[in-house]
Amino acid sequence: MTTLAIDIGGTKIAAAVCDENDSIIQRWRVPTPMDADAINQHIAEVYREAVAAGHTDIEAIGISAAGNVSADRKTLTFSANIPAWINYDLSEHVGALIDHAVPVVVENDANCAGWGEYVHGAGQGSSNMVALTVGTGLGGAIVINGQLYRGSFGMAAELGHLPMVPDGDHCGCGLRGCAERYTSGTSLENFAKSAVRRRPQDAKRLMELCGGDISKLEGPMVSQAAQEGDVLGLYAFGKIGEWLGRTMAAVSAVLDPDLFVIGGGVVAVGDILLEPARYNYQRFLEGSAYRGHAKIVAATAGQDAGLIGAANLALR
Ligand SMILES: [Zn+2]
Repeated sequence: MTTLAIDIGGTKIAAAVCDENDSIIQRWRVPTPMDADAINQHIAEVYREAVAAGHTDIEAIGISAAGNVSADRKTLTFSANIPAWINYDLSEHVGALIDHAVPVVVENDANCAGWGEYVHGAGQGSSNMVALTVGTGLGGAIVINGQLYRGSFGMAAELGHLPMVPDGDHCGCGLRGCAERYTSGTSLENFAKSAVRRRPQDAKRLMELCGGDISKLEGPMVSQAAQEGDVLGLYAFGKIGEWLGRTMAAVSAVLDPDLFVIGGGVVAVGDILLEPARYNYQRFLEGSAYRGHAKIVAATAGQDAGLIGAANLALR
């Protein structure tokens, strides 16, 4: 018994046939077209290739997609990436191309990555886990009593859009002051850029790394500077860490999890991000001195967390 997992990212579609333990047997990778029909065709093509390659025991296709997914795990109700994905039945569109040979299950990408961490990564053994993926935005996934929590309308765990700052910075979602405006890869760059402008005397290393053009400063450069001990690089991580901690404290007021798993490229700096996050989580936690504290750890399932989670969820 196998599953075909598909992870539709912003730049590439990753696909994998996974065995019953969610281990990857064979992989595919193609650039992501911006057109919904072309994406469907790619997925159907990978399925046919997988069957032709001998994987005749595929029981389901699990798709991880960036967007809001209906509670029945078929329809994308909205996506900021693909304009056609508004009330779009991705399950039916892909299913029609493969003569409905197997069920097609759609899940939100952050839910897939978080679930991948829960079943095969840093979340193993937790009862109530919250995963936060610090990427371009801030993705969330919630596990309660060992089950992925999707909410009543499939909209749960949009933790990047927790309203943290009244009338704060404008967010891509149309609202203002959302958590991801203050804790994400994008906000890391923004904090670093504003620090360079305010403190040019301390900005030598960051300016070197971006070739003298501050508009070209990117997250990995800030990570490198911070790991070298650069004061502005550390400042930028201190800021997103602070907001990550505040966000986790707010989440704890609602869900009281025992574990937060932090994923995304920026977490490669480890405690440079996690220490300010832990400090501020405790600082803003209600009744902090008189209650249990969640553990806050880095994700361990790596780049494949989304594929693994999609494969596992497709059969649940
Ligand atoms: Zn928002």
